[in-house]
Amino acid sequence: MTAARIIGVVGAGIVGAALAHELGKRGRRVVLVDRDEPGQGCSFGNSGAISPGSVVPLAAPGVLASVPRMLADPTSPLRVRLPYLPRALPWLARFAAAANPATMARTAATLFRLHADAVALHRALADDAQVPELILERGHLHLYRDHRALAADAWAWKVRAQYGFVAEELDRERILALEPAVGSGYTAAMYLPDHATVRNPLRYVQAIVANFVRRGGEVRRATVTRVVATGSAWSLVTGVGSIACDAVVVAGGAWSRRLLDPLGLRLPLETQRGYHVEFTGDAPIARTVVLTDRKAFLAPMESGVRVGGTVEIGGLEAAPDWRRAAVLAAAAKEALPSLGEPARRWMGHRPCMPDSVPFVGPVPGCPNLYAAVGHGHLGLTDAPGTAHTIAALVDRAWPTGAG
Ligand SMILES: Cc1cc2nc3c(=O)[nH]c(=O)nc-3n(C[C@H](O)[C@H](O)[C@H](O)COP(=O)(O)OP(=O)(O)OC[C@H]3O[C@@H](n4cnc5c(N)ncnc54)[C@H](O)[C@@H]3O)c2cc1C
Repeated sequence: MTAARIIGVVGAGIVGAALAHELGKRGRRVVLVDRDEPGQGCSFGNSGAISPGSVVPLAAPGVLASVPRMLADPTSPLRVRLPYLPRALPWLARFAAAANPATMARTAATLFRLHADAVALHRALADDAQVPELILERGHLHLYRDHRALAADAWAWKVRAQYGFVAEELDRERILALEPAVGSGYTAAMYLPDHATVRNPLRYVQAIVANFVRRGGEVRRATVTRVVATGSAWSLVTGVGSIACDAVVVAGGAWSRRLLDPLGLRLPLETQRGYHVEFTGDAPIARTVVLTDRKAFLAPMESGVRVGGTVEIGGLEAAPDWRRAAVLAAAAKEALPSLGEPARRWMGHRPCMPDSVPFVGPVPGCPNLYAAVGHGHLGLTDAPGTAHTIAALVDRAWPTGAG
């Protein structure tokens, strides 16, 4: 009998965790490697939204016109840090180039395929990981200042409707019927009943990894410095020795270029730094509430309300600019006046592609090497779907039973 092939997964964020879990479930022998405890990267602090209806890419017409404001105003929902601008320019140019109707239509179709089944896949994953209580299926409420502001977004709602997502328009009275704590500044809304929320993104990753381990999976804590070909197999070079693998999946989030560039896969991956602020205590909302004017998501987490959002282009190294967290806190308090003072704040690195489409598949020219990176604003939503896609590719390469 031949020994089972070993698949190395680099990165124990939600993407790597879901993937290791899926491969393990299919009977594969998997080593999940992270320099940190599972879930300490971007997946630690996201807003928990499972948003299958998010088919409209971030790069949309008008984005170029807003660049001067992004540079000048540290409190704007989109911000480019001036010292980082020269490094970010090539990415920003690609981002702006993607903001045209033809690319947007193509992207919307791709994003739809990626996350159409997200809620059902998360439900199944959470059940399997024995944390069904973490998935809240009460929809998302997108708040607008007034009907005029909503009308200005009509095109985006039209795209969602074209893909079959149900959305209901609500006036102030019906907003209050759903969410009585919403402040008077929001008088119009769209309600997406079929969307969901993960009520504790870190505990979710931890539970998925724990279940992976229960099934026989192995977790190693090490920084992978290089992925090196060894004949038809691969070696993960780490600070504490090498890990021999038959196949490797790089799922290192915003840090993945350090491993993929030397292998010839030069992805246009940039970090969009995001922030969150948490208000502890009983959450005054029953579902995810989106402040469309602030680009902020308010989520009823296990420990209270988390408000997450903002985009800051500033690279992987710069210290957080906590003014951005303060802006989120103020926005949350205006939207939900009963909130007290924030208890915690956080900054994390979204792994973003200019057209919002992640790279999920084989690395060209590198047999048995895959990448699952660049999920941007929707990595939580897309993690189980990505896991299924990569696991299916592995199954195709090595049909089950072939070791
Ligand atoms: C404020 C905010 C709100 C968000 N809200 C949502 C939301 O509501 N819904 C949604 O779907 N998405 C949301 N996102 C996006 C989502 O969080 C990310 O897309 C997702 O977490 C990316 O997951 P990942 O596993 O690719 O990366 P990460 O979670 O960053 O994981 C990558 C892992 O790889 C490890 N790693 C990297 N390089 C190495 C190496 N060389 N050796 C060893 N380990 C390595 C890191 O330590 C890390 O643990 C949000 C993001 C932010 C910042």
